[in-house]
Amino acid sequence: MNLQARVVVTGCYAQRAPEEVAALPGVSAVVGNSHKGLLPSILQQFLPGPTATTAAAPVIPTAQLAATSIWADDAFAHSALEEAQILPGHQTRPNLKIQEGCSNRCTFCVIPATRGNSRSLGAEKIFAQVQGFVAAGGRELVFSGINLGRWGRDLAAEPDQPANLADLVRNILTTTALPRLRVSSIEPMDWTPDLIQLLAEFGPTARLARHAHLPLQSGSDSVLRRMHRRYRPWHYAEKATQLRAAAGPALCLGADVMVGFPGESDAEFRETHDLLAALPIAYLHLFPFSPRPGTPGWQLHQDSPVPHLAVRQRMAALEALARDKARAFRATFVGQSLPAVTLNASPTEAALGHGSALTDNFLPVTLCHPAPANQLGTVTVDALNRDNTLNGYFIPAQTA
Ligand code: SF4
Repeated sequence: MNLQARVVVTGCYAQRAPEEVAALPGVSAVVGNSHKGLLPSILQQFLPGPTATTAAAPVIPTAQLAATSIWADDAFAHSALEEAQILPGHQTRPNLKIQEGCSNRCTFCVIPATRGNSRSLGAEKIFAQVQGFVAAGGRELVFSGINLGRWGRDLAAEPDQPANLADLVRNILTTTALPRLRVSSIEPMDWTPDLIQLLAEFGPTARLARHAHLPLQSGSDSVLRRMHRRYRPWHYAEKATQLRAAAGPALCLGADVMVGFPGESDAEFRETHDLLAALPIAYLHLFPFSPRPGTPGWQLHQDSPVPHLAVRQRMAALEALARDKARAFRATFVGQSLPAVTLNASPTEAALGHGSALTDNFLPVTLCHPAPANQLGTVTVDALNRDNTLNGYFIPAQTA
């Protein structure tokens, strides 16, 4: 045991309940997400000797609980988006987080309280990141964010600068040599006509990955209203149809779905199931509802919890649907060739002399031969296994 060691706690729990964390034995300091940008200065204050005070003026805690200092507030003035250059390395397809926080108020979600309102990384910094990534040999970059579709709404309008996510993506694809850009989860109503149009223009060459992840959460109008979600089931279906029309049948459409939101009846769950069954979904991320302290959903759960057994049964029904959907989608590509990037093989794949690749439409394929990571080329899918995994072989772009 090192008696000189100090425990400094940060993250969402530290932001949501700083006093609770500060009361835990052994905790010297609590730093909420609101003050993460000050962590280096705060940690300096815990170093023994003169370094504690020479580097910078001490940062004053926002509160004190016995011997524990707390840095956390609701302003998030000291939380910055990551700005270190993203490079291809251990992760072939790194995420570039270009947006943080969320200004929506879904009743189940603790993120607005723990990460603050929506804010965007400036366009110039994003361009510099993309150019640095390309210069370092990067092939595929993923734009991510807590509420990515809101990118740019908090930035001051400037001439010749992109004003929204669609403008930004268009500028990146037309003015840089980035080979492939993928956008992560985007709320249904933030798939604007301009953003959808980009899939039609840049999807066929796979410069923009033919992949759209739209959180659904529920296919029931009444449940969506209780969740304070900003779309109705028919809006969601419309967006899914428009996206598929733009990108074509190879589009990989994914959804998050929450099961057992307070008061969810059998009929409401059936609406979710039936909507998903009718849509060209390629995969589902399924979550049982989990009450988060401090959210309206917490109280709703006290008033009308869904029984555990019903949640388990509904999860099982959607898991079965997800398996069927994934199989049907993947089966359509057996015998076909798709744009792909090679990845680092898993230890199991490597031990068997296999490689790994990911297609632009988000299909992981185990290659029947080794292949160095971070190559662009074409995967030909030759088998769909019983567990829905895919096998194939890869031809690098220069010899394809
Ligand atoms: S669920 Fe998503 S959109 Fe809703 S408040 Fe949370 S982060 Fe925002």
